[in-house]
Amino acid sequence: MTDVRDVIVIGSGPSGYTAALYTARANLKPLVFEGSVTAGGALMNTTEVENFPGFRDGIMGPALMDEMRAQAERFGAELVPDDVVEVELTGSGPDGLKTVKTATDTYQARAVILAMGSGYRKLGLPREEELSGRGVSWCATCDGFFFRDQHIAVVGGGDSAIEEATFLTRFGSKVSLIVRRDELRASKIMQERAFADPKLEILWNSVVEEINGADRLESLTLKDTVTGETRNLPATGLFIAIGHDPRSELLHGQVELDPNGYVIASHPSTGTNLPGVFAAGDLVDHHYRQAITAAGTGCAAALDAERFLAELE
Ligand code: FAD
Repeated sequence: MTDVRDVIVIGSGPSGYTAALYTARANLKPLVFEGSVTAGGALMNTTEVENFPGFRDGIMGPALMDEMRAQAERFGAELVPDDVVEVELTGSGPDGLKTVKTATDTYQARAVILAMGSGYRKLGLPREEELSGRGVSWCATCDGFFFRDQHIAVVGGGDSAIEEATFLTRFGSKVSLIVRRDELRASKIMQERAFADPKLEILWNSVVEEINGADRLESLTLKDTVTGETRNLPATGLFIAIGHDPRSELLHGQVELDPNGYVIASHPSTGTNLPGVFAAGDLVDHHYRQAITAAGTGCAAALDAERFLAELE
C-alpha cells in the first residue's frame, strides 16, 4: 500500500490526460493509470486527426496523445503504464477512501476519475487492424472527409450504421451499405432515409470476408450469406459500424451503469452515484464520441474532483 493520494485517474485517452493535466495544475499530484498496452487511448490507432482544435495542419493521433501526456507530466502528473484490475469505490470505510488495485500493488485516493473509454466492435478479420487509419475506420465524423469522391463501404444494419452511411454520401462517389440479413435493424425513419438516398446502395445478405490492400484498403471480398458466393467490391474506404462497448467491467456492482454498460453521470456535472467518483469521455458518452468532447469532460471531471476535495477540508 502506498501513500493516500488526492486523485487517481484511470485511463489515458484525451479524457484521462486532460483530467490529469487539470488536477496536476491544481497541485493535486494525480496518479494516472495509463493501461499496459494501449496507453494513449483510441487515437493511438489512427493516422491524421484534422478536427482537434489548435492544429491547423492536423496532427497524427499518436503525436497528439504524446503531447497531451507530456503536458500532464510537466505539471506533476505521475503516470503508471499499468492496468487497473480491481476497484473498491464505495468508500465504505470510516475514512471514505477509494481503493484501486493493479496486479501487483494497491493504492488509495480520496477521489477517483474514471476515463477508461470504450472500444469499437471489430469484424475480427486479418487486415482490419493493420489498415486502420489507412482506409479502415470506425468514425465517419472523424474520417469521412478523407474519402472524397471515393467508393465507401459501411458495415452494419442499425441506426448508427445508417447515420454513418448517409453522412458519408456527402463525401463518397458512392456508398455501399453491407447488411448481413435481408432487412435492417434500424428504426423506420432511418430506413426511409437510407432508401431515399440516391448515392446509397444496400447490399443485402452480405458479409465482409476479406479486407484487401497492401498499404491502403483497395477492395473488399464480400460473401453472400444465402448462396455462399463471393465477389469483389472495389471500395477504398470501409467504415465499421457494428457498435461499441464501454470499458466498465471493473465497475459492476459499484458505479451505476446504463443497460449498455455506460457510466451514468449526473449531467452537467461528471459525478456518479458514488461521492468522490467522477467519470468522463467515451466511458460515459455514447453520443458525441470525439477527442475534443472527451477532453472537455476530462476537464470537467478534474474541476468536479477539485471541488469535492476542497469541501472535504
Ligand atoms: P480512450 O481514448 O478510449 O482512452 C481510454 C484508455 O484508457 C484506453 O485506451 C487505455 O489506455 C486506458 N484504460 C482503459 N481501461 C484501463 C484500465 N483498467 N486500467 C488502466 N488504463 C485503462 N475523434 C476525433 O475527435 N477525431 C478523430 O479524428 C478521431 N479519429 C478516431 C480514429 C479511430 C481509429 C478511433 C478508434 C477513434 C477516433 N476518434 C476520433 C474518437 C476518439 O479517439 C475518442 O472519442 C476518444 O479517444 C475518447 O477518449 P477517452 O479518453 O474517453 O477514451
